[in-house]
Amino acid sequence: MARIGFIGLGNMGLPMARNLARQGHEVLGFDISPAARAAAAAAGIPLAASAPEAASGAGFVLTMLPAGEHVRAAWAELDAACAPDAVRLDCSTVDVQTARALAEGRRMLDAPVSGGTMGAENATLTFMVGGAAKDVAAARPILEAMGRTIVHCGGPGTGQAAKLCNNMLLAISMIGTCEAFALAEKLGLSHEALFEVASRSSGQCWSLTTYCPVPGPVPGSPANRGYAPGFAAALMVKDLGLSQQAAAAAGAHTPLGAAALGLYERFVAEGGAGRDFSGIIEMLRRG
Ligand code: NAD
Repeated sequence: MARIGFIGLGNMGLPMARNLARQGHEVLGFDISPAARAAAAAAGIPLAASAPEAASGAGFVLTMLPAGEHVRAAWAELDAACAPDAVRLDCSTVDVQTARALAEGRRMLDAPVSGGTMGAENATLTFMVGGAAKDVAAARPILEAMGRTIVHCGGPGTGQAAKLCNNMLLAISMIGTCEAFALAEKLGLSHEALFEVASRSSGQCWSLTTYCPVPGPVPGSPANRGYAPGFAAALMVKDLGLSQQAAAAAGAHTPLGAAALGLYERFVAEGGAGRDFSGIIEMLRRG
């Protein structure tokens, strides 16, 4: 069993740290927020007085922080405290350049996740991992304690690249699915009939068959509970911003990604920040 420093015990980090501890790992946590520290203590996670103290002597050091600026600031402080052969993992969603810069000259993996807070609670996350194969192999048992699917995507930054490409595709497919239902409503076609046809034809996609944005066809989808998240629209705006930033830096042409970002920014500005991202159908119906 490993000694693990875990920095960032928020909505995702706390259940992930708890799953590591449940598997018998020795976890020492830290968070700058007193409320997060109190929740972690209540969940039985031992706490360090600082991030470097949590990292000191650990075989694995993980960060699960809001955004790139927090990750860069945390690692500026953490690096000197880590043992040279410790494997460092950033599981936050950040820009590709930050991931690549952090990996330079050290054993570091970018390992962003999908699966949300339910996946974090149930240890069913998908990890998209960028970095050296031997470091991925060393970290695999740690990742398997928190997730079900671990994909080694390539060198440093490719885990973040996979996350950004996947979520851009998800946003575009969700908007397309919502537009199809909104058009069907105007044309007098029932939700059930469109679902039955599209789910068995070339329009089939995850946004339709697993996460259907209208109530009824997929009983567990957020549309059946007033669009309570799920995956909040504010987080989708963050990820689409990162994918557009990556596209601009790489010279990739992503016009539908840009349009999706614009539509989700408007949804958030109109009060949708905390609603599930499939709730954008209500805005699209309004026009
Ligand atoms: P969160 O805001 O709930 O948790 C982040 C925690 O980091 C907070 O408790 C905050 O106090 C702490 N923190 C910030 N700066 C710190 C520092 N320098 N040192 C120590 N602690 C610090 O966020 P979250 O929902 O847990 O998301 C974490 C990351 O996971 C984000 O990058 C997010 O994009 C990504 N993500 C979230 C979800 C989701 O459904 N919530 C899904 C996939 C990916």
